[in-house]
Amino acid sequence: MSITVGILAIQGDVQENILSTETALKELGVEGKVVSVKTTEDISKLDGLIIPGGESTTIGQLSLVNSSLKLMKEKIEKGMPVFGICAGMIMLSKTADDRVVGKTDQPLLDLLDIKLERNSFGRQKESFEANISMNPIDIPKFKGVFIRAPSVSDVGPGVDVLAKFNEKIIAVKKDNMLGVSFHPELTKDVSLHKYFINLIKKSKN
Ligand code: GLN
Repeated sequence: MSITVGILAIQGDVQENILSTETALKELGVEGKVVSVKTTEDISKLDGLIIPGGESTTIGQLSLVNSSLKLMKEKIEKGMPVFGICAGMIMLSKTADDRVVGKTDQPLLDLLDIKLERNSFGRQKESFEANISMNPIDIPKFKGVFIRAPSVSDVGPGVDVLAKFNEKIIAVKKDNMLGVSFHPELTKDVSLHKYFINLIKKSKN
């Protein structure tokens, strides 16, 4: 069995996620390829999708215009595993308000029942790194790189909280959807990318 993992390449941390996913496949000995995707044609071929960190308003607007937003939503609803990183988790959410400007009408996938606060830890200059743990998925120690990161202020039924930092929720999972506030692709540790690949593998069985 070979899997195809797509990295949404509209804006944001695309190359870093390609490398981390390729390393994760290699370390797991899983056959598969990693492709950067933009169009509905690219997205239609995927077994799993990573929506990288970047700027969620830009990713939302551009994916709305080329119809990839609609197809991503359909495929995720049908069970395709998705990993939303920072802006990617914002894209997955049902509600995202900015800490300072409050509600905006940015396009969202509107799938994951969480309430998000964008830029929850401050702006670019307040970016930081911190050790975190995701015990529910057996990743006890991980370096979290937080860049204009969101936090989850509320979760709906069935959403598992995987990690908190300073009392704020920073990693969640529901069924085929995984979301984190920080940037795993900016560290050498590919354990989260491996976890995601295993989710894809399971969904194909
Ligand atoms: N603050 C960004 C947003 O709201 C997310 C930052 C990131 O992905 N590193 O879209």
